[in-house]
Amino acid sequence: MEFSLIADCYEKIESTTKRLEMTQYLVELFKITPAEMVDKVVYLTQGKLYPDFVDVQTGIAEKLAIQVVGKATGRSERDIRGELAKTGDIGETVQGFMTRKAQSTLFDGASLTVKTVYDQLDKAARAAGSGSMERKLSLLAGLLTSASPKEAKYIIRIVTGNLRLGIADMTVLDALAIAYGGGKEARAPLERAYNISSDLGRVAKIVTEQGLGGVQRFRVILGNPIRPMLAERLGSPEEILEKLNGKCMAEFKYDGERVQAHKKNGGVTLFSRRLENITTQYPDAIELFKEHIRVKNAIVEAEFVAVDENTGELKPFQELMHRRRKYGVKEAMKKHPVSIFIFDLLYADKRDYTLEPYPVRHEKLKHIITQGDRVTTAEFLAVDNVADLERFFEKAVEIGCEGLICKSIAQDSLYQAGARGWMWIKYKREYKSEMSDTVDLVVIGAYHGRGKRAGTYGALLLAAYNRDDGVFETVTKCGTGFTDEDLERIPKMMKKHRVPQKHPRVHSMLDADVWFKPEVVLEVLGSEITLSPIHTCAMNSIREGSGLAIRFPRFTGNYRLDKSAEDSTSNEEITKMYRNQLKKMSES
Ligand code: ATP
Repeated sequence: MEFSLIADCYEKIESTTKRLEMTQYLVELFKITPAEMVDKVVYLTQGKLYPDFVDVQTGIAEKLAIQVVGKATGRSERDIRGELAKTGDIGETVQGFMTRKAQSTLFDGASLTVKTVYDQLDKAARAAGSGSMERKLSLLAGLLTSASPKEAKYIIRIVTGNLRLGIADMTVLDALAIAYGGGKEARAPLERAYNISSDLGRVAKIVTEQGLGGVQRFRVILGNPIRPMLAERLGSPEEILEKLNGKCMAEFKYDGERVQAHKKNGGVTLFSRRLENITTQYPDAIELFKEHIRVKNAIVEAEFVAVDENTGELKPFQELMHRRRKYGVKEAMKKHPVSIFIFDLLYADKRDYTLEPYPVRHEKLKHIITQGDRVTTAEFLAVDNVADLERFFEKAVEIGCEGLICKSIAQDSLYQAGARGWMWIKYKREYKSEMSDTVDLVVIGAYHGRGKRAGTYGALLLAAYNRDDGVFETVTKCGTGFTDEDLERIPKMMKKHRVPQKHPRVHSMLDADVWFKPEVVLEVLGSEITLSPIHTCAMNSIREGSGLAIRFPRFTGNYRLDKSAEDSTSNEEITKMYRNQLKKMSES
């Protein structure tokens, strides 16, 4: 398969902002892609080479990219930087240079295959150790030299992490459903396969080779992270019990980091909530899992919580951020030990437990864990009345938990990978006082500061996630709650996410001074949700022509580095919060 087919498709995708058209272009691309290449085409289209959980650094820094372009086009670094400052895009810069070069040297037009492009990029990504920079440089420059200007544009964007086609995972699934699953209805089983494997390429390959039957037979794979099941929220025990048919299993909601542990033939791999491989950050936890999970192969989910060494008390979530590091892991491990509270079992004894109701999973979990000082199952209680639920909630809050997660024990309480549903309902401390819900929002733009804030940002433009459309919708501008340290840290932290224009997956009616790729999530406390003509969040869902906005937002100091942009609070949640607020107001 020729790479030019992909480049042509990307060009068409870039020419539209309509999701249906994008899907159609992808369908056309998938239909002409041979089965053995479809996984690679899917990864490339996402601007990647592998699924996210594979721990190989694909991207190269701007400095190396400029050298690559220099080597391939014969331009000086100064030339390239000058052009880059004008275009703001390395892809267009290369395309421009190469078009001019092709005109003067006669481009031979020999066609580059997808396989060659992928293999070279793969080799470059995997080059490690001494001399690896030179190797990457020559592999990538070689690739650009054999590419047409248009192909070079996309290749360099892929390796620098700037492809930005604006295609959400769900759009790829839609396109696969139409191309190989017999129609859009096939999206549900495809989505499930994706949710339990976190590997779009693999799902694409299965549906292309084995059709929908293969997708339906798909099961959890040890070593592939499962996208986490998420909870809905309610504000009172009465509502919770009513929603769960009068009874549930209540568990402490620990305030730590969610971790999925895969034990395979005795070895342990850890994945974060956003499915990054974080195994090296927690050598202590690895040993604990080896010792306390009694079976050879299993997948469990747990909350890691920082504990006070002297008192054994649970510490707040922020403390754990000290453990997010590449270097000095041992020192951090000693200074900030963790306790592990295991709350679910997804795989054991070669069996996919995501297909079992919660009570079955929980029973098995208790069976395979050896409880200890630092590893226990999450504290639980079967409840069927408001008084017990309230008392258990108070007990949870007393020991430093955020509240409870109330879990359905019905027959259909399967593990709903990747979905936020009513099988789990969180009941958090803050909901007791009115208007103090926190939300996790994505930073998508910023405004320059003035006066005391000159040189940093005065306010951030924040967005919620619209899962259906795969876009980020603005919901507030936040300029309060930042300490001096935050004000210094944020511009540095955001620098690498800057994009020259509004990102294609951002819906905003407001202009920002600076735009960002939706990546960084911050926790914000608002005072009220109001209808807004200028924010796009949940536009038209309550009233035609109005979106929803969070008023008086304040940054809580919590950088939700554990969340990806897609994990941020959704437009649907904000709508629900708005409706709850109306309800409370009418009751009082
Ligand atoms: P929040 O910001 O409130 O933690 P979230 O979006 O990260 O929410 P939710 O699914 O809404 O995630 O809430 C469940 C979260 O609570 C899980 O992601 C997990 O990290 C944490 N948690 C703590 N204890 C438990 C437990 N016993 N069972 C399930 N989740 C738990």
